[in-house]
Amino acid sequence: MLHYNIQLVAEIMQARIVQQAAGNSYVEHLLIDSRRVIHPTAALFFAITTNRRDGHDFIKEAYNKGVRCFAIQKEIDTRLFPEASFLLVTDTLKALQQLAAYHRRRFAIPVIGITGSNGKTIVKEWLYQLLNEHYSIVRSPKSYNSQVGVPLSVWQMQPQHTLAIFEAGISQKHEMEALQQIIAPTIGILTNIGEAHAEGFADAAEKLNEKQKLFSSAETVIFSTEKLQPLSLNNIAVYSWGFAAGNPLVIQTINKHLSETTITFSAGVTTNSITIPFVDDASIENAITCLAVCMYLQVPLQRVQEKFLQLRPVSLRLELKSGIHNTTIINDSYSADLSSLTIALNMLQQQGQHVQRTVILSDFQLTAEQEVATYRSIAELLQQHHVQRLLTVGPRTKALLVPQLSAAISSMSFDSTAALEQQIDSIPFQNETILLKGARVFELDSIAQLLEQKTHQTVLEINLSAITRNIRAHQQLLKPSTKIMAMVKAFSYGSGSYEIANLLQFMKADYLAVAFTDEGVALRKAGISLPIMVMNPEPVTFDALIDYNLEPELFSFSILHAFESFLEKEGINSYPVHIKIDTGMHRLGFMPSELQELVAVLTRQPIFSVQSVFSHLAASEDPSEDAFTLQQASLFDDACRYLETSLGYSFLKHLDNSSGTIRHPQLQYDMVRLGIGMYGISPAAVKLQLEEALTLKTTIAQIKQLQPGETVGYNRRGIITKPSVIATVRIGYADGYPRNLGNGIGHMLVHGQKAPVIGTVCMDMTMLDITDLTDVKEGDEVIVFGPQLSVTTVAKQSGTIAYEVMTGINQRVKRVYFEE
Ligand SMILES: *Cc1c(COP(=O)(O)O)cnc(C)c1O
Repeated sequence: MLHYNIQLVAEIMQARIVQQAAGNSYVEHLLIDSRRVIHPTAALFFAITTNRRDGHDFIKEAYNKGVRCFAIQKEIDTRLFPEASFLLVTDTLKALQQLAAYHRRRFAIPVIGITGSNGKTIVKEWLYQLLNEHYSIVRSPKSYNSQVGVPLSVWQMQPQHTLAIFEAGISQKHEMEALQQIIAPTIGILTNIGEAHAEGFADAAEKLNEKQKLFSSAETVIFSTEKLQPLSLNNIAVYSWGFAAGNPLVIQTINKHLSETTITFSAGVTTNSITIPFVDDASIENAITCLAVCMYLQVPLQRVQEKFLQLRPVSLRLELKSGIHNTTIINDSYSADLSSLTIALNMLQQQGQHVQRTVILSDFQLTAEQEVATYRSIAELLQQHHVQRLLTVGPRTKALLVPQLSAAISSMSFDSTAALEQQIDSIPFQNETILLKGARVFELDSIAQLLEQKTHQTVLEINLSAITRNIRAHQQLLKPSTKIMAMVKAFSYGSGSYEIANLLQFMKADYLAVAFTDEGVALRKAGISLPIMVMNPEPVTFDALIDYNLEPELFSFSILHAFESFLEKEGINSYPVHIKIDTGMHRLGFMPSELQELVAVLTRQPIFSVQSVFSHLAASEDPSEDAFTLQQASLFDDACRYLETSLGYSFLKHLDNSSGTIRHPQLQYDMVRLGIGMYGISPAAVKLQLEEALTLKTTIAQIKQLQPGETVGYNRRGIITKPSVIATVRIGYADGYPRNLGNGIGHMLVHGQKAPVIGTVCMDMTMLDITDLTDVKEGDEVIVFGPQLSVTTVAKQSGTIAYEVMTGINQRVKRVYFEE
């Protein structure tokens, strides 16, 4: 470990030490997120300030977790934190970058910097898979390639490393100069420059030009001449590949077989070939880029040929599934290294529904020099993430990790995956979150399958990262101070309950809202501590409401009186409540004419504390009703003014739902209530770059060849007029696939190709006409809806709206959550 004391850090960042605590010594870890404190004593927290968040607001939280060293860009009252040191800089992000750039300069190893529109992460991960026995590699975790992610990646460089591989991603002009300073690649890789991404550049030339700035001090740049014009880089050698002679790496043939591709090539005097287990063009291109790197680094080909054959798809997904005996399974059994373990443990911690946390961990594949230190770090990580139980698989974890565990962690060791499999029935697993993490060779996947709940093959996948980005996209339209109430009624629009709530809590949403008390109780039992509003609080549930600290929406005199009597009887004062005003929706709420009487009740004794007053827009998405929307807002204003004056105190006001937030941001008041927009459904989805977060998928159970005159399904409604191929898929109306999509009205996607529904939709199954589709076999995946086939399209075909289709998906359909 290279050491940095406070003085050196201050010097590097040109910081002024405004407070120095006695005794604190070295900075080993850089921290930007107060929720992610792992090594508090050796961490330096950067109070990074963006449009929305001021990192200085989180100093207290970090300090309470033990962090004692802070980089700040504005004066704060440091006396509140007497044990901490403070470094004042002009820009905390720049300071972070400067420190990383300094750190980078301490190493003279080859450093690969990868940029381009697509394939950066895959090339990086594949290079790691190909070269990790040849080099001790440090690389960007996941796709940490931003202005913040790059410095954190580079900071991981340590003396034992012999090769570094970092990604650089940019979204605006002038960002690459900063990344170049930090990565200072000696070898550059330019993957393809796609048009697809809206990347904030005037045109392709500007984008290419900007990206090339990463290479300004590189020795060589590796790229393909197939898609890119040769680069005009001053004094920088190129190592290009393509079909044309004259490239240092000439591709001769590309032969696709059933599931493999063989690529023959010549480089200098050698002619040889590699085979990869992929047939798609993007994988082939990425593999050749990796080949070019191997050739350039003069890695003996026979040492990597076999590795090419074993290349694995890069799964950046961390999946969360429900398991046996009320457990939650996080399956990350594809990679084993410290940074991906840290990411997985963070997810384990973020999902707080179970107190008990178990990790099943296989040996990592490490060199002898790396082993001791790595297992020591793992032992620390497990302790810091409050893991209570560890099951190890393999001899190395048993010998080197188990002895270092803290006393709070119980452990069991197994020699092999098979040994664990054999004994798994005798190990109690219950009410806990279980993380599986291991090197691919250990095939922990088989353990995951034993632990996961067995259900049929229709799943609803929920992309938690997309939800995060969608919420941010809405926040961009709001003032930084405007709060967010996330509507998680109806199982979060069908997507789940505590899984989404945990994410929202982690993202620091301000409020949650559910339809019924029992939904709120379920969230509390899963450890959700955010304030929760209950929109339909029935009097029989008042006990539970109070026991679980849930806040009712009061919308009528009958519910108001019932709750008042209840509070009186219980002797409770100042209970938080929310008042709903009916400004034109005419569903629930007090009418403007009833406000005087409402105030009389609210003020006759101090048992209510009005947290918020709100109303609901009837047609916020509809431009032709904008006049009505504004009229609703005006009635709402009047009501709020009257209530505020009469009550004598202020409360939160809120009106906008998702489409209101987008179309009427001037009506954001103190808070907005986001529902469907979080899932990426909106008329403005394209403009806001929202991503659909839900994918409903199933599989093909059987394929049949049918002849003219035959029929398909009940009542013989599917009529075959030409030789046809029919696939039966495992989803029906009992799962929530609308029955009126039968007989050619709806379609699904098989390998991206449209497959119309033929015949009527059955209870558990549906038949598709796949006659015109290519390469379809039994067991193949079928997309019912998702980013490629919008749930909005499916809803339209069915004569309804996305809300109904989403919330109609039966609970028997397994929910799988993932982060990218
Ligand atoms: C469901 C609901 C919302 C959210 O509506 P979206 O259109 O899904 O954003 C907001 N407010 C109330 C009162 C709701 O019932």
